[in-house]
Amino acid sequence: MKITRIDCHVLLDPGYDSGSTSSAQDDLVVEIHTDEGLTGIGETDLNAWVARACIEAPGTHTMDRGLSQMLLGEDPLQVEALWEKLYIGSAMTGRRGAVIHAMGALDMALHDLRGKALGKPCYAQLGGKTRDAITPYASLQPEVDNWDRYCQSMMEWLSLAQRSGFRAAKLEMTPFGPYQHKGLKAGPAEMTELIREARRAVGDAFFLMVDVQYAFPDADTCLAAIRPWEEFNLFFLETPLPADDLDGYARLAREQSIPIAAGEWLATRFEFLDLMDRGKVRVAQPDVGRVGGFTECRRVCDLAAARNLTVVPHLWKTGLSIAAAVQMAAATTHCAFIEYLPDELCVARLRKSLVKGTPQMVNGAIPVPDAPGIGVTLDRDALAYFKESAERLRREG
Ligand SMILES: [Mg+2]
Repeated sequence: MKITRIDCHVLLDPGYDSGSTSSAQDDLVVEIHTDEGLTGIGETDLNAWVARACIEAPGTHTMDRGLSQMLLGEDPLQVEALWEKLYIGSAMTGRRGAVIHAMGALDMALHDLRGKALGKPCYAQLGGKTRDAITPYASLQPEVDNWDRYCQSMMEWLSLAQRSGFRAAKLEMTPFGPYQHKGLKAGPAEMTELIREARRAVGDAFFLMVDVQYAFPDADTCLAAIRPWEEFNLFFLETPLPADDLDGYARLAREQSIPIAAGEWLATRFEFLDLMDRGKVRVAQPDVGRVGGFTECRRVCDLAAARNLTVVPHLWKTGLSIAAAVQMAAATTHCAFIEYLPDELCVARLRKSLVKGTPQMVNGAIPVPDAPGIGVTLDRDALAYFKESAERLRREG
């Protein structure tokens, strides 16, 4: 079997809001086609136009080849060897960041393709199934621009999540900092009150997480703000500090008791080694696409296991990423939860409608599907609709 063509689809939700802290409004989906008629699909989470350029750009010398160029004509079943080929062949421009995130979509598609060719789900090639169901947590970020309404909406969503069977939920709270969501305004004291109210409402047995999306400028400010949160028995606090302040992360690990989670933006195991060994996080959050695909995510999960760390994959894209995370989690015993948003708690249309066959939650758990590959198919009408919307933005600005 040979790779004959790679399609890159840039997609955009026409109702996107540039003030929203959400990367679920656009998407890059790849399809890898073969001479035997099999196609693999993958997606990744970065600026979709940049991702397409990373994949389609040609290269002119040995240290800087084009990703697409390197894959054409290759045997798609040699997935791990192709990862090395892409990593080494693009090293001068790549190694980290956008090129690795883009490679992640290709690697995801290659795993999907190999699974389809072998008639087996992806988990079978990632180490095998360790359990029959995955526990999701509800990731809650109300799309409103006023703090009082935000709190009200958060409490309603939390209650709905608990009633629909979730045993865990994450409060996304970004009322200040560089990624302030929709112009919300509140301080640490108001955040403390919302977490207190949330804990009171869900009870002690429910798992609660908080994500502040890099809100605190340094460890001192963060420690002062989160000290009162120690009593709320949080499962983790996500990305409290700027991503590159690893010494600050290490201080948080030493000087307070809430487990710190991070890693959603990272590319490759090498960045995760820094985060784990220097930043001392307790929860590693690789995003299957961004980190470099299933191949690299497997290595990150193994490094976390060797350090007794928990893995909770990040995901904020479509059903394709949900299905991919389920496959990854099925083969990873120390993966406590995956991020998940049921349709009734999600406003992003792109996220809800791009694929068919998204794994669904039943009684608080997601049964691991046994269909070949990742197990979902693209909805061609949705693909065409969101693609046209992306092209319109490019034409009209
Ligand atoms: Mg986050």
